[in-house]
Amino acid sequence: MFGTHQSRTVITRLNEAGYEAVFVGGAVRDYLLGKKPTDIDIATSATPAQVKSVFSNTIDLGTEHGTVLVIESGEPIEVTTYRTEGTYSDNRRPDEVQFVTSLEEDLKRRDFTINALALRITGEVVDPFNGRADLSAKSIRAVGNASERFSEDALRMIRAVRFVSVLGFNLEASTKASISELAGTIKSLSIERIKAEFDKLFQGMFARQALELLAETKLSRELPLFPAQSGAWLQCAPFQNSLEGWASLMLAGQFDVSKVVKAYKLSNKERTYLKTVRKFFEIRQQHAYTIEDYYEAVFSTLVFVEKMVAAFTDSMPIDDRVMKDEMDSLPIHSKHELAVKGEQLMDWTGKKAGRWLGEAIQAIEHAVLYQVVPNEQNAIKEWFLHEYECKE
Ligand code: ATP
Ligand code: MG
Repeated sequence: MFGTHQSRTVITRLNEAGYEAVFVGGAVRDYLLGKKPTDIDIATSATPAQVKSVFSNTIDLGTEHGTVLVIESGEPIEVTTYRTEGTYSDNRRPDEVQFVTSLEEDLKRRDFTINALALRITGEVVDPFNGRADLSAKSIRAVGNASERFSEDALRMIRAVRFVSVLGFNLEASTKASISELAGTIKSLSIERIKAEFDKLFQGMFARQALELLAETKLSRELPLFPAQSGAWLQCAPFQNSLEGWASLMLAGQFDVSKVVKAYKLSNKERTYLKTVRKFFEIRQQHAYTIEDYYEAVFSTLVFVEKMVAAFTDSMPIDDRVMKDEMDSLPIHSKHELAVKGEQLMDWTGKKAGRWLGEAIQAIEHAVLYQVVPNEQNAIKEWFLHEYECKE
């Protein structure tokens, strides 16, 4: 059976109130592909006001676009009124949306045939554009005339490549030709929309093909900081997550962290990751990792940095197993593993907390890490009182 219990309840209650309601979007596509759907979207003939009257707990997500968030037994479910999009004057946003009562009208405004499928609660699939045939053929095909659809909303071209990355499908010939023809129009898109698609693109198993396709269709020329020679960059894909994708873009173009952060409006978390990768990548220009590097780093980050070393430098990358052994053999892996805490130091010395305490802990951490002293309370006490304190 499709969907969660709560999402089926939402459809059933709308149906009982006399409205049509169906599952739509990526979840239907993923279900037909035998994949676990992520977020579940519901489309309905009911207007936003009507949706709100059927359910007691709802949140407006922009009724002008027709979306109401229904909270059903704790689960939030997006319910969007069937709509068409009015004229597009700027390649990026419909000037207005119009609510309609026909499901087929709603499916017609969707980007690709594989995303223009609906599923009724009865299990019946509504497929006016042969999306199922394209799913079998692994083909990404625009609904209707590709050039028209991309002129309405240029983001669809990047979405097409994002679906190549995630699904491993091919672009249908005329869809691909239209992208090459209209690639220049993505200039008008907001960077936030582009970034959101790239976050997903970077996570795809077929990211390498997708990056190749961006170059081939010349979409890459319109994207900020996209390396003109992407050969070495392609070697980095696929990525474990989108963070790795952004970090690899930075290294491919030899950009400063801040330049990438600014160009794509990256989050603080992303900025921090880029800084860490940059730091270890630079360390590797000089020498192999020290004990302290291994102590400080997260294993998966170093694995990624070594991939970058292989792609962008002449140095030999360090094998994952070697790094794993180095990390495993560290006497401690974080401060929390130290056999002593601040209270004990205050106890031993009779001193109150102060700046000295942090410094002392750090010195003990260092001594244990470099095996000057074993990570045992008595040994540390001995060392601390006789070696460290005397020198202070
Ligand atoms: P994912 O599984 O990554 O969420 P998705 O297909 O659900 O993929 P969404 O961005 O969540 O992608 O969009 C939901 C649906 O809305 C799509 O399946 C598609 O039918 C429609 N859609 C989204 N963006 C556009 C667009 N720019 N133009 C036309 N239709 C779109
Ligand atoms: Mg979705």
